[in-house]
Amino acid sequence: MLNNSESKGIKIQNVGLSFGETEVLKRVSLEIEPSEFFAFLGPSGSGKSTLLRAIAGFGPTPTGRILVGDQDVTRLPPWQRNVGMVFQSYALWPHMSVRKNVAFGLEERKVPQQEINRRVGEALELVGLSALAERKPNELSGGQQQRIALARTVVVEPRVLLLDEPLSNLDANLRVQMRRDILNLQRELGLTTIFVTHDQEEANTTSDRMAVLSDGVIQQVGAPRELYDHPCNRFVAGFLGSAN
Ligand code: ADP
Ligand code: MG
Repeated sequence: MLNNSESKGIKIQNVGLSFGETEVLKRVSLEIEPSEFFAFLGPSGSGKSTLLRAIAGFGPTPTGRILVGDQDVTRLPPWQRNVGMVFQSYALWPHMSVRKNVAFGLEERKVPQQEINRRVGEALELVGLSALAERKPNELSGGQQQRIALARTVVVEPRVLLLDEPLSNLDANLRVQMRRDILNLQRELGLTTIFVTHDQEEANTTSDRMAVLSDGVIQQVGAPRELYDHPCNRFVAGFLGSAN
């Protein structure tokens, strides 16, 4: 079985990031517990992807500190962070089979071939794609491609899983099904997960807690019910109310 049992929490301490004159993250601080399913919710342009990319190690180094477990990862390259990220666009290799796409990260890490075969087999089984292992990504549906992206990320046994609007390219029915599948996968692996979405229903139905972002500032953090019942300001009240 893929081993993600050593689940780690995340500490984000005073994280700031600017592009030119524009301050996109403004001293963001937040703690996420081991094995928690946490959602970042906020309108387009609020800084959700930038914060996720900063945790994963993509893009410019922010000010402040980011810890995974006890380790300060702020200045580590992405592959040394034990953090796996699934992008909205999937970013699969079109010329490689499903199996090869999932195996790629293990081959890069020079994992022995026998172990690669075993772990890729387990990851494909986990996302229900064993039967399609020899196909190419473009022969598969959007939902199946999303599952490959998930399998490819969990196969390297990250301690933290980051999902940037993973369902937004899927049609409504598939979104609900994939949402359930992602939750099951997260529970099975006990994996600390941050799920980014601009869809409040998605955040509500999946997360243990969520943070509402606007303009690079965390407006409020709490369980979905708390935020609905006791929004701390007009922005949160309006944002959670408006899409009902
Ligand atoms: P969200 O994911 O919440 O929609 P983003 O984190 O993608 O928001 O973007 C937040 C802000 O940062 C936006 O105003 C966006 O235009 C800006 N931004 C993001 N990436 C870059 C970049 N590489 N260069 C310049 N501006 C950027
Ligand atoms: Mg985004």
